Amino acid sequence: MANPETLRILCPNLTCRKILAVPVSARGKTVRCKGCQTNIRIPEGKPEADPAAKGKSEAA
Ligand SMILES: [Zn+2]
Repeated sequence: MANPETLRILCPNLTCRKILAVPVSARGKTVRCKGCQTNIRIPEGKPEADPAAKGKSEAA
């Protein structure tokens, strides 16, 4: 199953949307998607599912 020391990052490229497994040591760094070569910034700290993230209004 999921390695606890691995972060799962969803590629922001809508035509790719590949789930990338990156080591937690990559936080705050940029990785490149193997699928579409897009540079993805790995957020520091917790993943995007942070309940403290208040009012993230993204009107898709
Ligand atoms: Zn991608």
